[in-house]
Amino acid sequence: MPADEVTVAQLCGKCGSQVSTFSVKKDNLMLTSTDQTWCPHCQEDTPEVRDIAGRLESIKRAVESYPKAVPATPPQSSPDRRAT
Ligand SMILES: [Zn+2]
Repeated sequence: MPADEVTVAQLCGKCGSQVSTFSVKKDNLMLTSTDQTWCPHCQEDTPEVRDIAGRLESIKRAVESYPKAVPATPPQSSPDRRAT
């Protein structure tokens, strides 16, 4: 895919599933759409939602790369120093 093109994912505005994707030049990128698209999951025409496919994947990767939740542990108390 040329560097000046982006992959746009068409999502179902009702259930959020990806219906299809298409490539478009960045200059012509239009993420706002009032079109309706046929969703095989909803079995009806639903408002089309567009998003950049690569962005979705990068978000997913970012979420997966988050460190796992670690239970807060109290700071280790240093052993008392013996008075000299
Ligand atoms: Zn749907």
